[in-house]
Amino acid sequence: MPLTRNTPLTELPGVGPARAKRLEKLGLRVLGDALEHLPQRYEDRRETHTLQDAPQDRPCCVALLAAETPRVSYVRRGLTLVKVKAVDGSGTACLTFFNQDYIKEAIRAGESYVFYGTVERQGSLFALTNPVFEREGTARATGLIMPVYPLTAGISNNLLAGITRRAVESCLDGLPEILPARVRKEHQLCQTQYARKNIHYPADFEALAIARRRLVFEELFVLTCGLAQLKERRSAGEGRVLSGGLEDFAALLPFAPTNAQRRAMEDIAADLRSGKAMNRLVQGDVGSGKTAVAAFGAWAAAKSGVQCAMMAPTELLAEQHARTLEALLAPAGVRVALLTGSVKGKEKKALLSALAGGEIDLVVGTHALFSQGVEYRDLGLVIADEQHRFGVAQRGALAEKGGAVSPHVLVMSATPIPRTLALIIYGDLDVSVMDELPPGRTPVATFAVGEAKRARMYGFVRKQVGLGRQVYIVCPAVEENGGGWEDGPGLDLKAVTAYAAELRERVFPDLRVGFVHGKLKSKEKEAVMSAFSAGELDVLVSTTVIEVGVDVPNASLMIVENAERFGLSQLHQLRGRVGRGKHESFCVLMTASGRDTARERLRALCATNDGFQIAEEDLRLRGPGDFFGKRQHGLPQLKVADFAADMELLKEARAAAEELIAADPELKKPAHRLLKRRVRELFEENAELFN
Ligand code: ADP
Ligand code: MG
Repeated sequence: MPLTRNTPLTELPGVGPARAKRLEKLGLRVLGDALEHLPQRYEDRRETHTLQDAPQDRPCCVALLAAETPRVSYVRRGLTLVKVKAVDGSGTACLTFFNQDYIKEAIRAGESYVFYGTVERQGSLFALTNPVFEREGTARATGLIMPVYPLTAGISNNLLAGITRRAVESCLDGLPEILPARVRKEHQLCQTQYARKNIHYPADFEALAIARRRLVFEELFVLTCGLAQLKERRSAGEGRVLSGGLEDFAALLPFAPTNAQRRAMEDIAADLRSGKAMNRLVQGDVGSGKTAVAAFGAWAAAKSGVQCAMMAPTELLAEQHARTLEALLAPAGVRVALLTGSVKGKEKKALLSALAGGEIDLVVGTHALFSQGVEYRDLGLVIADEQHRFGVAQRGALAEKGGAVSPHVLVMSATPIPRTLALIIYGDLDVSVMDELPPGRTPVATFAVGEAKRARMYGFVRKQVGLGRQVYIVCPAVEENGGGWEDGPGLDLKAVTAYAAELRERVFPDLRVGFVHGKLKSKEKEAVMSAFSAGELDVLVSTTVIEVGVDVPNASLMIVENAERFGLSQLHQLRGRVGRGKHESFCVLMTASGRDTARERLRALCATNDGFQIAEEDLRLRGPGDFFGKRQHGLPQLKVADFAADMELLKEARAAAEELIAADPELKKPAHRLLKRRVRELFEENAELFN
């Protein structure tokens, strides 16, 4: 029977039920699946040498004749050696294989093989250890650019390479071309067959680059087509008409809004009156004053008689927002409430019934706001603050709380998301950029220092307190579900608690030192925070719970312990807690690590205060995982594209996708049928969005 894309892998030689199970773990069931299982990297095994002129510092191929029957020795339990001598015209090599008993059958005296490995000189002889080999003339594992695949236990790269080779040999004919011909031509993309063949078995590295470019484009194109469709549909969605004049609102503010704030508010006002559902992202650096912009939305909703829910990533931040907004909006008659996981029992019941009864205009909280059992009388606006993890899927879930007409959605971004990633994560939103800080801010002077400067650093803390300022000291503690961006290693809470105690008792016994971390009860947290806020504490030791949004203008110094454990963007966010008032502000990044690279990385932060620039640098250095990992964005996982390396292509693909969707919003044209199906498959988890 001829092999096709639908041939089960079990029909291939060497694939029994046990292996088939393991292959399934890799997502491989039929031969066609293997085309999609892409190499992680490649080994260039094309170079062939004689023993005499083989390089000694890297592997290459040598063609050798086995000069004897392999000899097996059992060194000890669990260690078997197979040795065999092999020759070419230039010399003799001793080949050694560890724990590969089958070699004694696989290599026959008097036959020729190509070996791939590093040739070492041993006196007048040569040696190879555990080389890859095959009969001369086979060219399956030697003499080519070898794909190296992601593996799983019990599945060797050779087995997988054999399967993908068969797939490439028998399944390429009739492989559907999902890219419209025009797009392919315009962006100079190779055909799908060429791409699939060369991504697995590249003729050379140029062919690989051409293949990869096409596949990356294809992947990003399908993704951005889906996003463009979502955006198209959202903007077609009906929205409630809400009104509220900017000047009336501005009168409530204790300051004059910046031009950037004004523009963002005007964008929002226009969306709210448009009769269509708003889906807007306000992006602005730390301290650019996004809260006031959010408040404008909440105020307009209340004025128009609908409810607004504002979601913050941590309880701490929700509490702070509730306080700020209450102070700002209560005088205008807006009824504000706080709903977090710590609101329980009677209190919660009363709150829920007030919400359902429409006695609350603005409810601020954590994701508890959208849990089951929370009913709104008339939810007209949803605001998500500092939520880069608030992805497409979450926005979808939330829209459902709005009843028949979707609520307006406003996302305030935790700024430093590289622009390219924002295009993806927020690809279905309209964007207002706030590129201006309120007047009178000076950039936070930032220093990266080692342990040797600890005493001086403590001295500096005292000096700032002496001037009447306040100080944050941040430690990277393990958080349960990551109030911060990084869920990576940190000190355990005990270590942080002990450090806080030491600061309090030994280092600063004369200062007022408070301590806050994610495991405190929310009442306790709030008590400490409001004490700090009110100037009743000089020093606040904390974990990253203070990362986003916390606002105490009198704080002028931030110390970050073990700064090397944080991402640059996260440090930038942290640093944004100071420099919020009129005082000259500082950030000291302590690095315990003696490694220069750690401090080198931090230097980017000392050099600039531009969150976007830092985010791009972070993306370059650490990859998109921090921004994009863990599927919290609700978008599909990408297989080929790399967000740091493929930004240019992302822009290209996105532009092409938007053009296509503008011309054929539902992908109804016959030429787009396959593309449509692929988009739907990619967004499978949110399939309902695409039906
Ligand atoms: P972020 O954009 O980081 O959320 P906030 O909304 O917390 O910033 O604002 C940071 C600080 O700047 C707050 O203390 C806020 O009161 C103040 N602020 C905001 N807008 C202005 C303005 N136009 N003029 C002066 N201060 C402002
Ligand atoms: Mg904020």
